[in-house]
Amino acid sequence: MRLRPEDYAIHNAMEDVADQAVQQVLSEDRTACDCSHCRDDIKSQILNKMHHAYHPVVSGEPIPDPIMLEHLDTDTFNRVMVECYKALIRVKENPRHDNTDRPPLHNTTEGILRAAVSEVLSNQKLHLERDDVSRLMAKAMNGLKPSYTTTYKGDAFTRASEMDAAYLANVYSQIFKALEGLPVNERKTS
Ligand SMILES: [Zn+2]
Repeated sequence: MRLRPEDYAIHNAMEDVADQAVQQVLSEDRTACDCSHCRDDIKSQILNKMHHAYHPVVSGEPIPDPIMLEHLDTDTFNRVMVECYKALIRVKENPRHDNTDRPPLHNTTEGILRAAVSEVLSNQKLHLERDDVSRLMAKAMNGLKPSYTTTYKGDAFTRASEMDAAYLANVYSQIFKALEGLPVNERKTS
């Protein structure tokens, strides 16, 4: 079973929080560029400092309300805002918005996990329904470190870290933890 991005649906609620923080900071600093590239560059730097808050998007189940910045506990709120201001300064000093050869903001951890999940499901001859793949991906992502990027360089890092044995061991451990409690069926050979 080779998983593709369209085979499941997950969402990191931290992305909503980061969007709100970026919006707030940019509305206060009129000297900063507020183009979509700069927003994404700030956002990726915030997200890499926060824990994942992924949830599966499951058919028939309501999508959780976005986490509102002002409803975060004080500690988390402060961390988000500090990271946001730091990222804003970095992006203002070194804007990358003229670079047109850039992929959209993405979390390279998801690609690593997707490849590892594909391998586990194939090796164990397991079949998961779409919603359960979403549940598995969301739960395992929450045990892994974020690695958001807006460059292709991040994907080179992905390949390097794929070879790191300790990192990979953690990826597999998160997958097996997430598989517990899921209704897995042995794949029927046809
Ligand atoms: Zn810009």
